[in-house]
Amino acid sequence: MKLYQPSEILIEQGEENTAVVRRAVARLPHTPVRIVEKGWERSGLSAVEKDAFAAGKKRLLFTRQRSTFLEHCPAGTSGLVCCNYLVVSLISNCPMDCSYCFLQEYLANNPTLKVYTNVEDLLSQVATATDRHPTQQFRIGTGELSDSLALDPLLGFSADLVPFFAERRNVLLELKTKTDCVEGLLALDPRDRVVVSWSMTPSAIIDTEEHQTASFSARLAAARRVQEAGYKLGFHFDPLIEYPDWERGYYETISQIFSTIDPQRVAWVSLGSLRMTPALRGTVRRRFPQTRILSGEQVPGADGKWRTFQALRVKMYRTVLGWLKDAVPHVPHYMCMETAAVWEKVLGYTPNCDKDVARMLIEPHLRTGMHST
Ligand code: SF4
Repeated sequence: MKLYQPSEILIEQGEENTAVVRRAVARLPHTPVRIVEKGWERSGLSAVEKDAFAAGKKRLLFTRQRSTFLEHCPAGTSGLVCCNYLVVSLISNCPMDCSYCFLQEYLANNPTLKVYTNVEDLLSQVATATDRHPTQQFRIGTGELSDSLALDPLLGFSADLVPFFAERRNVLLELKTKTDCVEGLLALDPRDRVVVSWSMTPSAIIDTEEHQTASFSARLAAARRVQEAGYKLGFHFDPLIEYPDWERGYYETISQIFSTIDPQRVAWVSLGSLRMTPALRGTVRRRFPQTRILSGEQVPGADGKWRTFQALRVKMYRTVLGWLKDAVPHVPHYMCMETAAVWEKVLGYTPNCDKDVARMLIEPHLRTGMHST
């Protein structure tokens, strides 16, 4: 896929000599660089731009994270079943532009793609939190406010993260992506403690809704490369999107994935439905007038988000899950941001929020990792 090219690089005063800034500036020798004052992004610039959100993606700002890096995934709210996932964000905003992306609402007035320079603070916060509970097992991901790997060729964060997490006995790191930017991972040793996961969907959806992401075949080839380099894989069919030929599309997607990679080294598979707040629906309609994702029947849920109506949602989950169980019967699967009622209908049980799902996903992998020390 085409590598990210910002229109300009903005560096907050005092961050000029940090390792990540030096790397990025060296790798973008023709991009204009500007030193800006702390808080520059609150200048109100976005108010005068036509598609401010798209323009913001092109402005690469290096700053410091002055608050905490480590947070709980927002799915653990509003009465939804939770998998006790923690997130850390070194990057806020994404160079790609999926029509359904929640960042369009979450970062609506944000005029930049922000990169935090103080990676050492992130690592020390993770070490403090996880060392405090040595018998507890943690699953931590970087793909909440951006794609985990899209900017790796530029920023090289995987070289900081993978060796650090490879040494931690009670933590699994998940790098979640829609790209093929895996080069920086291949020479590192994850020691069974890093899962690289791909959001997968039929090519018909990738081509029309997931703008600037890698094609299905490029994602799959990249997954195979990292698996051969020693990483475990994850796959997320999230959001599942209904379109006229969705059954054939998802069936072929699943068949191709599990006939290409080694199904024995898959850590988990998740499913999720399309979900959008009313404000996000408005933004999607304005920014992507040709999109088909708003044409299906959607209804508001208890958390205020609109989802595919329940009968169709359950049908899609059961159908896709049936094929996944045939392809990888031993691999744990779960649903993201779903209600207990839907878990019951699809899987026949409701897990305890922060125990059952997390244990099912983490334990087999960390046990392996501990033996390998
Ligand atoms: S890859 Fe993820 S973060 Fe990036 S635009 Fe698509 S949905 Fe949003």
